[in-house]
Amino acid sequence: MRRCVLAAAAACLLLLAACAQGETKAWEGELLAMDTIMKLTLYGENAPQAGAAAMDRIRELEGLLSVTGEGSDVYRANHTGSAQLSPDAAALLDRALALCRETDGALDVTVYPVVRAWGFTTGEYRVPDDGELEALLERVDYRQATLEGDRVTLPEGVELDLGGVAKGYTGDQLMALLEGEGVASAIVELGGNVQALGAKPDGSPWRVALQAPEGGYAGVLEIVDRAVVTSGGYQRYFEQDGEIYWHIIDPAQGRPARSGLQSVTIVAEEGTLCDGLSTALFVMGRERALDFWRTREDFECVLISEDNTVAVTEGLEESFSLYGDWEGRPLEIIRR
Ligand code: AMP
Ligand code: MG
Repeated sequence: MRRCVLAAAAACLLLLAACAQGETKAWEGELLAMDTIMKLTLYGENAPQAGAAAMDRIRELEGLLSVTGEGSDVYRANHTGSAQLSPDAAALLDRALALCRETDGALDVTVYPVVRAWGFTTGEYRVPDDGELEALLERVDYRQATLEGDRVTLPEGVELDLGGVAKGYTGDQLMALLEGEGVASAIVELGGNVQALGAKPDGSPWRVALQAPEGGYAGVLEIVDRAVVTSGGYQRYFEQDGEIYWHIIDPAQGRPARSGLQSVTIVAEEGTLCDGLSTALFVMGRERALDFWRTREDFECVLISEDNTVAVTEGLEESFSLYGDWEGRPLEIIRR
């Protein structure tokens, strides 16, 4: 095994010129949470107080949702098979299970035994053999997790991992908190997730850059009141015998999803939806992902394929543009 990479989360999506706008001063906060670097940029009189509350809220959600943190709701559920969840964990699990159903299991919150076997939660990376994966896949099926009220029940061997959706939920919670604190303009970067409250203080849209798979930036999205979430094979991976293995698992195979995509970026109002779908559409691959998009009205997406072609759904036609070295490359606008 040659090397293991946890791509610096802050590099996943860069905010272009998101700092102080003219005379308006920004409050900025940074912390390490949920295995990534988180950065908050808030404007307005109440920003320092709102920022402190937002940081506390992030730490609280990390404590509840972490799969490895002893004492988290997810940890308790996985270690006892039945647990009373906090309102946050219950709300997120409920939403996540709905997304598992809607994506026909491309998102599967019970994929944890497989993710762990590959070493993605511990950093002890390895390639499990076919027999091991076959046995582990018996334990992967989101339909076996039942949520009644705030109580989750898991059959023997089934374990939850909300890692594919937790940062999205955190973004939604931060937007609600900041709005409640009277902040009208803010942007939060939670690893590969970016979520904006309102527009920039001068009324113009936020400009969010999409990382190119090989580094640098492939495109820019202009957003107001939106979440932008990217799942990419380059975000966390290891290499063994010349093969790259990344952290997004196809729950049907128990292996890193090789769907022909390098990254999926979802744009929508709801961060949880963006996060769940970025993982799921990566697993689906381009054609299935676009068929899925055609059945929905609640999100738009940018797909970067292995041949570096970029497909953008029509709702982003005005707000997306290729950037830098990518400017001359083929850009396909997908219509309904
Ligand atoms: P994301 O970065 O949002 O795409 O989520 C990837 C994380 O979710 C991984 O690190 C795993 O912990 C977990 N995961 C990987 N594949 C799946 C999947 N198909 N469904 C649900 N969670 C997954
Ligand atoms: Mg995700």
